[in-house]
Amino acid sequence: MGELDPARKYGLKTRLVRGGLKRSANGETSEALYLTSGFAYDDPETAEARFKGEDPGYTYSRFANPTVAMFEERIAMIEGAPVARATATGMAAVTTTMLCHLRQGDHVVAARAMFGGCRYVIEDVLPRYGIESTLVDGVSLDAWAAAIRPNTKVLFLETPANPTLEVIDLKGVAAIARKAGARLIVDNVFATPILQRPMEFGADIVIYSATKHIDGQGRCLGGVILCDRKFLEDHLQSFMRNTGPTLSPFNAWVMTKALETLDLRVRAMCEHAAAVADALARLPKVARVLYPGRADHPQAALARAQMTLGGSLVSFHLDGGKDMAFRFARALRLIDISNNLGDAKSLITHPATTTHFRLTPEARQELGITDGMMRLSVGLEDPGDLIDDLAQALKAL
Ligand SMILES: *Cc1c(COP(=O)(O)O)cnc(C)c1O
Repeated sequence: MGELDPARKYGLKTRLVRGGLKRSANGETSEALYLTSGFAYDDPETAEARFKGEDPGYTYSRFANPTVAMFEERIAMIEGAPVARATATGMAAVTTTMLCHLRQGDHVVAARAMFGGCRYVIEDVLPRYGIESTLVDGVSLDAWAAAIRPNTKVLFLETPANPTLEVIDLKGVAAIARKAGARLIVDNVFATPILQRPMEFGADIVIYSATKHIDGQGRCLGGVILCDRKFLEDHLQSFMRNTGPTLSPFNAWVMTKALETLDLRVRAMCEHAAAVADALARLPKVARVLYPGRADHPQAALARAQMTLGGSLVSFHLDGGKDMAFRFARALRLIDISNNLGDAKSLITHPATTTHFRLTPEARQELGITDGMMRLSVGLEDPGDLIDDLAQALKAL
């Protein structure tokens, strides 16, 4: 009772609340938390059959766990992906997706505007194992096409990108990947599956840091890899089972419960972010606002075509440098200084000295990360209070 019928199609909200639900004999209404590392067998024959894959039951939580499986099935149903695997963090998802199938002599092309950790994996880790990488201006389809080599196996991007919120043409890059016989992997953290489903535009694999909007309440780290069954069976399954980037059942339980409200939270955050972006654009000392939902965003039409709303992140340039940015951040009374994002609490960060401090000044300049740039993750507070806080802090300058 209460579980979804696999033969039926359900609306998004129903999938968010009930997808993957498997009740135990107790009939609990909330998803059960199986906080167990191992599983006991009735007899040694059963153990043998499970290890041979002839019995579908569980063996060990590094391989699979019923609570983690509920989370995986739910997020796969939300994304419209054949399968999902959950990982301990978003970075574990990125690293696992790359290393499970790439080998020495392969080549990766990635958009240069991306999360710091992803850039480290692609620029520093992969080349150590003989996997070459090229970073391109992701907005230019010509740049993607020009970077393709005969050994290119992966095209990797995030859109909207961190922290510049530039938008990349998913359909365009997917076509280049297809022609090159390479996989398109999309880090869809900023858009969430509520606003954008990259597989509908031709992406082969979608990755999330579930730490962000999926948990959305600042509690747990987690990650997700969504792919087709063939990639899972040929590459991902064995690699994950034997290297162990597994998500804890407790964190999976938190994430599963959080998915129930993902649609409500993300829509409210987007509504608040749009109001905050418009208000910021009218405030003094703000030189430029970057928000994919605003008509003045450089790729506003593309954002509208790929995303149903503008997202919960707003970046802006103050008309000063680091000193002004720091004085502004110090003057905020409600919005927290934190590099996390997608939280119910609004959080602001100075990318040049935090998330992107490892980049050279030239690399930051190339990306448009100025010393006066701030990235604001808009939460669930009253937008009027957020705008008042930003306005009083700007006035204090
Ligand atoms: C946070 C983040 C990650 C990494 O996720 P963790 O859960 O922190 O490991 C990857 N990509 C993007 C775009 C992110 O925002």
